Amino acid sequence: MSTRIDDLPIRDDLRGLTPYGAPQAPLPVALNVNENTHPVPGEVADDILDAVAQALRDVNRYPDREFTGLREGFADYLGHGLTRDQIWAANGSNEVLQHLLQAFGGPGRTAFSFAPTYSMYPLLTRATGATYVAGTREADYSLAPEGVAAQVEAARPDIVFLCAPNNPTGSPVGLDVIEAVYEATEGIVIVDEAYQEFAPRETQSALTLMPGRERLVVSRTMSKAFAFAGARVGYLAADAAVIDALRLVRLPYHLSALTQAAASAALRHAPTMLRMVDDIVGQRDRISATLEALDYTPYESWTNFVLFSGVDDPAATWQALYDRGILIRDVGIPGSLRVTAGTEQETTAFLDALASIDSGA
Ligand SMILES: *Cc1c(COP(=O)(O)O)cnc(C)c1O
Repeated sequence: MSTRIDDLPIRDDLRGLTPYGAPQAPLPVALNVNENTHPVPGEVADDILDAVAQALRDVNRYPDREFTGLREGFADYLGHGLTRDQIWAANGSNEVLQHLLQAFGGPGRTAFSFAPTYSMYPLLTRATGATYVAGTREADYSLAPEGVAAQVEAARPDIVFLCAPNNPTGSPVGLDVIEAVYEATEGIVIVDEAYQEFAPRETQSALTLMPGRERLVVSRTMSKAFAFAGARVGYLAADAAVIDALRLVRLPYHLSALTQAAASAALRHAPTMLRMVDDIVGQRDRISATLEALDYTPYESWTNFVLFSGVDDPAATWQALYDRGILIRDVGIPGSLRVTAGTEQETTAFLDALASIDSGA
Protein backbone atom coordinates (compact mmCIF):
# COMPACT_ATOMS: atom_id res chain seq x y z
CA MET A 1 0.00 0.00 0.00
CA SER A 2 1.23 3.50 -0.76
CA THR A 3 2.18 5.95 1.96
CA ARG A 4 -0.57 8.24 3.26
CA ILE A 5 -0.16 11.65 4.93
CA ASP A 6 -1.04 10.13 8.30
CA ASP A 7 1.91 7.74 8.01
CA LEU A 8 4.24 10.75 8.04
CA PRO A 9 5.45 12.70 11.09
CA ILE A 10 3.24 15.60 10.00
CA ARG A 11 2.13 18.37 12.42
CA ASP A 12 -0.76 17.07 14.55
CA ASP A 13 -2.85 20.14 13.74
CA LEU A 14 -2.68 19.39 10.00
CA ARG A 15 -3.98 15.82 10.32
CA GLY A 16 -7.39 15.36 8.74
CA LEU A 17 -7.42 18.69 6.87
CA THR A 18 -8.36 18.82 3.17
CA PRO A 19 -6.51 21.12 0.75
CA TYR A 20 -8.22 23.85 -1.28
CA GLY A 21 -9.61 22.02 -4.28
CA ALA A 22 -11.97 23.77 -6.65
CA PRO A 23 -12.17 21.35 -9.59
CA GLN A 24 -9.99 22.40 -12.55
CA ALA A 25 -11.69 20.71 -15.50
CA PRO A 26 -11.06 21.64 -19.15
CA LEU A 27 -14.69 22.52 -19.95
CA PRO A 28 -15.63 25.04 -22.66
CA VAL A 29 -17.48 27.31 -20.18
CA ALA A 30 -15.61 27.70 -16.85
CA LEU A 31 -17.60 29.85 -14.42
CA ASN A 32 -16.48 28.29 -11.14
CA VAL A 33 -13.65 30.32 -9.56
CA ASN A 34 -14.71 33.93 -10.23
CA GLU A 35 -12.03 34.58 -12.78
CA ASN A 36 -12.42 37.42 -15.24
CA THR A 37 -13.28 35.39 -18.33
CA HIS A 38 -12.13 38.18 -20.67
CA PRO A 39 -8.47 37.87 -21.69
CA VAL A 40 -5.96 40.70 -21.19
CA PRO A 41 -6.54 43.20 -24.07
CA GLY A 42 -4.05 42.70 -26.93
CA GLU A 43 -2.39 46.12 -26.74
CA VAL A 44 -1.74 45.67 -23.01
CA ALA A 45 -0.46 42.14 -23.51
CA ASP A 46 2.14 43.52 -25.97
CA ASP A 47 3.34 46.06 -23.41
CA ILE A 48 3.49 43.44 -20.65
CA LEU A 49 5.52 41.16 -22.93
CA ASP A 50 8.03 43.97 -23.61
CA ALA A 51 8.38 44.65 -19.88
CA VAL A 52 8.86 40.97 -19.07
CA ALA A 53 11.42 40.61 -21.90
CA GLN A 54 13.35 43.55 -20.46
CA ALA A 55 13.28 42.07 -16.96
CA LEU A 56 14.43 38.72 -18.30
CA ARG A 57 17.74 40.27 -19.38
CA ASP A 58 18.58 40.96 -15.71
CA VAL A 59 17.18 37.74 -14.33
CA ASN A 60 20.65 36.57 -13.24
CA ARG A 61 20.28 39.15 -10.43
CA TYR A 62 17.82 38.99 -7.52
CA PRO A 63 14.82 41.29 -8.01
CA ASP A 64 14.17 44.53 -6.09
CA ARG A 65 13.32 43.06 -2.69
CA GLU A 66 11.19 46.11 -1.91
CA PHE A 67 9.34 46.05 -5.28
CA THR A 68 9.41 49.84 -5.06
CA GLY A 69 8.06 50.60 -8.53
CA LEU A 70 5.16 48.22 -8.14
CA ARG A 71 4.24 49.62 -4.71
CA GLU A 72 4.18 53.11 -6.24
CA GLY A 73 1.92 51.77 -8.98
CA PHE A 74 -0.54 50.35 -6.46
CA ALA A 75 -0.49 53.56 -4.38
CA ASP A 76 -1.34 55.57 -7.52
CA TYR A 77 -4.07 53.15 -8.53
CA LEU A 78 -5.73 53.12 -5.09
CA GLY A 79 -5.55 56.91 -4.59
CA HIS A 80 -6.82 58.18 -1.20
CA GLY A 81 -3.45 59.92 -0.73
CA LEU A 82 -1.70 56.59 -0.14
CA THR A 83 2.07 56.36 -0.51
CA ARG A 84 4.26 53.35 -1.27
CA ASP A 85 5.27 52.86 2.37
CA GLN A 86 1.60 51.96 3.05
CA ILE A 87 1.51 49.28 0.33
CA TRP A 88 2.44 45.59 0.39
CA ALA A 89 2.16 42.95 -2.35
CA ALA A 90 2.71 39.23 -2.84
CA ASN A 91 1.97 36.30 -5.14
CA GLY A 92 -1.80 36.61 -5.02
CA SER A 93 -3.77 38.08 -2.16
CA ASN A 94 -3.73 34.60 -0.66
CA GLU A 95 -0.03 35.11 0.06
CA VAL A 96 -0.75 38.61 1.33
CA LEU A 97 -3.26 37.10 3.79
CA GLN A 98 -0.73 34.42 4.75
CA HIS A 99 1.85 37.12 5.55
CA LEU A 100 -0.71 38.87 7.77
CA LEU A 101 -1.45 35.60 9.58
CA GLN A 102 2.26 34.87 10.02
CA ALA A 103 2.85 38.30 11.52
CA PHE A 104 -0.30 38.74 13.61
CA GLY A 105 -1.65 35.19 14.08
CA GLY A 106 0.15 31.92 14.67
CA PRO A 107 0.01 29.40 17.55
CA GLY A 108 -2.14 30.41 20.51
CA ARG A 109 -3.94 33.09 18.54
CA THR A 110 -7.39 33.29 16.96
CA ALA A 111 -8.70 34.49 13.61
CA PHE A 112 -12.40 35.20 13.19
CA SER A 113 -14.81 35.66 10.30
CA PHE A 114 -18.53 35.44 9.51
CA ALA A 115 -19.63 32.24 7.75
CA PRO A 116 -20.25 31.53 4.98
CA THR A 117 -17.24 33.39 3.67
CA TYR A 118 -14.02 32.84 1.70
CA SER A 119 -12.92 29.23 2.18
CA MET A 120 -9.24 30.18 2.32
CA TYR A 121 -9.57 32.06 5.64
CA PRO A 122 -9.82 28.88 7.76
CA LEU A 123 -7.25 27.04 5.63
CA LEU A 124 -4.66 29.83 5.84
CA THR A 125 -5.37 30.35 9.54
CA ARG A 126 -4.88 26.69 10.43
CA ALA A 127 -1.83 26.23 8.20
CA THR A 128 -0.13 29.05 10.11
CA GLY A 129 -0.99 27.44 13.47
CA ALA A 130 -3.80 29.67 14.72
CA THR A 131 -7.38 28.78 15.67
CA TYR A 132 -10.23 29.74 13.36
CA VAL A 133 -13.59 30.79 14.76
CA ALA A 134 -16.64 31.37 12.53
CA GLY A 135 -19.44 33.75 13.47
CA THR A 136 -22.85 33.99 11.86
CA ARG A 137 -24.71 36.27 9.42
CA GLU A 138 -28.29 37.42 8.99
CA ALA A 139 -30.64 35.06 7.08
CA ASP A 140 -29.88 36.87 3.78
CA TYR A 141 -26.11 36.67 4.50
CA SER A 142 -25.81 40.40 5.19
CA LEU A 143 -24.08 41.79 8.30
CA ALA A 144 -25.53 44.31 10.75
CA PRO A 145 -23.29 46.54 12.93
CA GLU A 146 -24.82 45.51 16.28
CA GLY A 147 -24.71 41.80 15.45
CA VAL A 148 -21.08 41.81 14.35
CA ALA A 149 -19.84 43.87 17.29
CA ALA A 150 -21.33 41.49 19.86
CA GLN A 151 -19.88 38.43 18.12
CA VAL A 152 -16.40 39.93 17.81
CA GLU A 153 -16.39 41.08 21.45
CA ALA A 154 -17.30 37.57 22.56
CA ALA A 155 -14.65 35.86 20.40
CA ARG A 156 -11.79 38.28 21.33
CA PRO A 157 -9.90 37.45 18.11
CA ASP A 158 -6.41 38.62 17.17
CA ILE A 159 -7.45 38.91 13.52
CA VAL A 160 -10.86 39.52 11.90
CA PHE A 161 -11.47 38.85 8.21
CA LEU A 162 -14.26 40.87 6.61
CA CYS A 163 -14.81 39.90 3.01
CA ALA A 164 -16.36 43.01 1.44
CA PRO A 165 -18.27 42.30 -0.77
CA ASN A 166 -18.47 38.75 0.51
CA ASN A 167 -17.50 35.56 -1.32
CA PRO A 168 -19.39 33.21 -1.86
CA THR A 169 -22.59 35.17 -1.20
CA GLY A 170 -21.90 38.44 -3.07
CA SER A 171 -23.24 40.45 -0.10
CA PRO A 172 -22.25 44.11 0.31
CA VAL A 173 -20.66 45.15 3.63
CA GLY A 174 -21.37 48.67 4.90
CA LEU A 175 -18.63 50.92 6.25
CA ASP A 176 -20.66 51.04 9.48
CA VAL A 177 -20.10 47.30 9.86
CA ILE A 178 -16.34 47.68 9.37
CA GLU A 179 -16.24 50.54 11.91
CA ALA A 180 -18.24 48.44 14.40
CA VAL A 181 -15.85 45.49 14.04
CA TYR A 182 -12.83 47.76 14.45
CA GLU A 183 -14.26 49.24 17.66
CA ALA A 184 -15.09 45.76 19.00
CA THR A 185 -11.54 44.36 18.80
CA GLU A 186 -7.96 45.26 19.58
CA GLY A 187 -6.81 42.90 16.84
CA ILE A 188 -6.02 43.39 13.18
CA VAL A 189 -9.09 43.95 10.96
CA ILE A 190 -8.57 42.74 7.40
CA VAL A 191 -11.09 43.99 4.86
CA ASP A 192 -10.74 41.76 1.80
CA GLU A 193 -11.86 43.90 -1.15
CA ALA A 194 -11.09 41.29 -3.83
CA TYR A 195 -14.32 42.28 -5.65
CA GLN A 196 -14.43 46.01 -4.89
CA GLU A 197 -14.22 47.04 -8.56
CA PHE A 198 -17.53 45.23 -9.26
CA ALA A 199 -19.45 47.17 -6.57
CA PRO A 200 -21.63 50.13 -7.61
CA ARG A 201 -19.45 53.10 -8.68
CA GLU A 202 -20.45 55.37 -5.79
CA THR A 203 -19.50 52.75 -3.16
CA GLN A 204 -16.92 53.90 -0.63
CA SER A 205 -13.94 51.62 -0.12
CA ALA A 206 -12.71 50.73 3.38
CA LEU A 207 -9.63 52.76 2.33
CA THR A 208 -11.62 55.84 3.39
CA LEU A 209 -11.56 54.51 6.98
CA MET A 210 -7.76 54.10 7.15
CA PRO A 211 -6.77 57.47 8.66
CA GLY A 212 -6.46 57.03 12.43
CA ARG A 213 -7.04 53.27 12.28
CA GLU A 214 -3.58 51.68 12.36
CA ARG A 215 -4.99 48.15 12.81
CA LEU A 216 -7.12 48.33 9.63
CA VAL A 217 -5.82 46.50 6.54
CA VAL A 218 -7.47 46.66 3.11
CA SER A 219 -6.50 43.85 0.78
CA ARG A 220 -7.04 43.74 -2.99
CA THR A 221 -6.13 41.45 -5.87
CA MET A 222 -5.35 41.72 -9.57
CA SER A 223 -6.95 38.29 -10.06
CA LYS A 224 -10.55 39.36 -10.62
CA ALA A 225 -11.28 42.80 -12.09
CA PHE A 226 -7.76 43.07 -13.57
CA ALA A 227 -8.04 39.74 -15.44
CA PHE A 228 -4.64 38.71 -14.02
CA ALA A 229 -5.37 35.54 -12.01
CA GLY A 230 -2.62 33.53 -13.71
CA ALA A 231 0.06 36.12 -12.90
CA ARG A 232 -0.57 35.80 -9.11
CA VAL A 233 -0.54 39.36 -7.79
CA GLY A 234 -2.34 40.59 -4.68
CA TYR A 235 -1.69 43.68 -2.55
CA LEU A 236 -2.84 45.61 0.49
CA ALA A 237 -2.90 49.08 1.99
CA ALA A 238 -2.29 49.65 5.70
CA ASP A 239 -0.36 51.78 8.15
CA ALA A 240 3.39 51.79 7.36
CA ALA A 241 4.03 49.97 10.67
CA VAL A 242 1.90 47.03 9.46
CA ILE A 243 4.06 46.88 6.33
CA ASP A 244 7.18 46.81 8.54
CA ALA A 245 5.70 43.83 10.41
CA LEU A 246 5.11 41.96 7.14
CA ARG A 247 8.79 42.38 6.15
CA LEU A 248 9.62 40.14 9.14
CA VAL A 249 7.79 37.14 7.70
CA ARG A 250 8.08 37.34 3.90
CA LEU A 251 10.69 35.30 2.12
CA PRO A 252 13.44 37.51 0.72
CA TYR A 253 12.75 38.40 -2.94
CA HIS A 254 9.29 36.80 -2.77
CA LEU A 255 8.04 38.74 -5.81
CA SER A 256 9.98 37.67 -8.89
CA ALA A 257 11.39 40.25 -11.30
CA LEU A 258 9.06 38.87 -13.98
CA THR A 259 5.99 39.25 -11.75
CA GLN A 260 6.99 42.79 -10.79
CA ALA A 261 7.53 43.75 -14.44
CA ALA A 262 4.26 42.21 -15.61
CA ALA A 263 2.18 43.72 -12.81
CA SER A 264 3.72 47.19 -13.16
CA ALA A 265 3.07 47.16 -16.92
CA ALA A 266 -0.52 46.01 -16.40
CA LEU A 267 -1.10 48.74 -13.80
CA ARG A 268 0.07 51.42 -16.25
CA HIS A 269 -2.93 50.35 -18.34
CA ALA A 270 -5.39 50.14 -15.45
CA PRO A 271 -8.35 51.73 -17.32
CA THR A 272 -7.92 49.33 -20.26
CA MET A 273 -7.41 46.36 -17.96
CA LEU A 274 -10.63 47.29 -16.15
CA ARG A 275 -12.53 47.88 -19.40
CA MET A 276 -14.59 44.71 -19.10
CA VAL A 277 -15.82 45.37 -15.55
CA ASP A 278 -19.01 47.16 -16.66
CA ASP A 279 -19.71 44.41 -19.15
CA ILE A 280 -19.28 41.73 -16.46
CA VAL A 281 -21.53 43.65 -14.07
CA GLY A 282 -24.16 43.71 -16.84
CA GLN A 283 -23.90 39.94 -17.25
CA ARG A 284 -24.09 39.47 -13.47
CA ASP A 285 -27.34 41.43 -13.34
CA ARG A 286 -28.69 39.47 -16.31
CA ILE A 287 -27.91 36.23 -14.44
CA SER A 288 -29.79 37.46 -11.34
CA ALA A 289 -32.82 38.58 -13.38
CA THR A 290 -32.96 35.35 -15.39
CA LEU A 291 -32.51 33.15 -12.31
CA GLU A 292 -35.48 34.89 -10.75
CA ALA A 293 -37.54 34.29 -13.88
CA LEU A 294 -36.57 30.61 -13.62
CA ASP A 295 -37.88 30.58 -10.03
CA TYR A 296 -34.51 30.39 -8.32
CA THR A 297 -33.58 32.86 -5.58
CA PRO A 298 -30.44 34.89 -6.37
CA TYR A 299 -28.83 36.84 -3.51
CA GLU A 300 -27.90 40.49 -3.95
CA SER A 301 -24.40 40.60 -5.45
CA TRP A 302 -21.81 43.38 -5.63
CA THR A 303 -19.26 41.02 -7.18
CA ASN A 304 -18.69 39.18 -10.47
CA PHE A 305 -20.69 36.12 -9.38
CA VAL A 306 -24.15 35.20 -8.13
CA LEU A 307 -25.10 32.78 -5.35
CA PHE A 308 -28.59 31.39 -5.84
CA SER A 309 -30.78 29.13 -3.74
CA GLY A 310 -33.91 27.18 -4.55
CA VAL A 311 -31.88 24.34 -6.05
CA ASP A 312 -33.52 21.04 -5.02
CA ASP A 313 -30.42 18.92 -5.59
CA PRO A 314 -27.29 21.09 -6.06
CA ALA A 315 -25.04 18.10 -6.81
CA ALA A 316 -27.40 16.89 -9.56
CA THR A 317 -27.78 20.36 -11.11
CA TRP A 318 -24.00 20.87 -10.93
CA GLN A 319 -23.47 17.54 -12.72
CA ALA A 320 -26.13 18.23 -15.35
CA LEU A 321 -24.42 21.54 -16.18
CA TYR A 322 -21.03 19.81 -16.19
CA ASP A 323 -22.36 17.29 -18.70
CA ARG A 324 -23.37 20.25 -20.91
CA GLY A 325 -19.81 21.64 -20.76
CA ILE A 326 -20.46 24.24 -18.08
CA LEU A 327 -18.50 24.37 -14.84
CA ILE A 328 -19.99 26.28 -11.88
CA ARG A 329 -19.39 25.92 -8.12
CA ASP A 330 -21.10 23.95 -5.38
CA VAL A 331 -19.83 25.88 -2.37
CA GLY A 332 -21.48 23.52 0.10
CA ILE A 333 -24.37 25.80 1.07
CA PRO A 334 -27.52 23.63 1.15
CA GLY A 335 -29.88 24.21 -1.78
CA SER A 336 -27.49 26.68 -3.42
CA LEU A 337 -24.96 27.04 -6.23
CA ARG A 338 -22.61 29.86 -7.26
CA VAL A 339 -21.92 30.99 -10.82
CA THR A 340 -19.35 33.49 -12.11
CA ALA A 341 -20.50 36.08 -14.66
CA GLY A 342 -18.79 35.29 -17.96
CA THR A 343 -18.74 36.87 -21.38
CA GLU A 344 -22.18 37.43 -22.90
CA GLN A 345 -21.84 34.14 -24.80
CA GLU A 346 -20.71 32.10 -21.78
CA THR A 347 -23.44 33.60 -19.64
CA THR A 348 -26.05 32.74 -22.27
CA ALA A 349 -24.72 29.17 -22.45
CA PHE A 350 -25.10 28.83 -18.68
CA LEU A 351 -28.59 30.34 -18.53
CA ASP A 352 -29.86 28.29 -21.48
CA ALA A 353 -28.44 25.09 -20.03
CA LEU A 354 -29.95 25.78 -16.62
CA ALA A 355 -33.32 26.54 -18.19
CA SER A 356 -33.21 23.24 -20.11
CA ILE A 357 -32.41 21.31 -16.91
CA ASP A 358 -35.20 23.14 -15.12
CA SER A 359 -37.83 22.24 -17.71
CA GLY A 360 -36.55 18.68 -17.89
CA ALA A 361 -36.93 18.15 -14.14
C1 LIG B 1 -10.43 35.33 -5.48
C2 LIG B 1 -10.30 35.88 -4.11
C3 LIG B 1 -9.08 36.36 -3.66
C4 LIG B 1 -7.93 36.44 -4.60
O1 LIG B 1 -6.99 35.51 -4.43
P1 LIG B 1 -5.62 35.65 -5.25
O2 LIG B 1 -4.69 34.86 -4.42
O3 LIG B 1 -5.28 37.10 -5.31
O4 LIG B 1 -5.89 35.09 -6.61
C5 LIG B 1 -8.99 36.90 -2.39
N1 LIG B 1 -10.08 36.96 -1.59
C6 LIG B 1 -11.26 36.52 -2.01
C7 LIG B 1 -12.43 36.64 -1.11
C8 LIG B 1 -11.42 35.95 -3.26
O5 LIG B 1 -12.60 35.50 -3.66
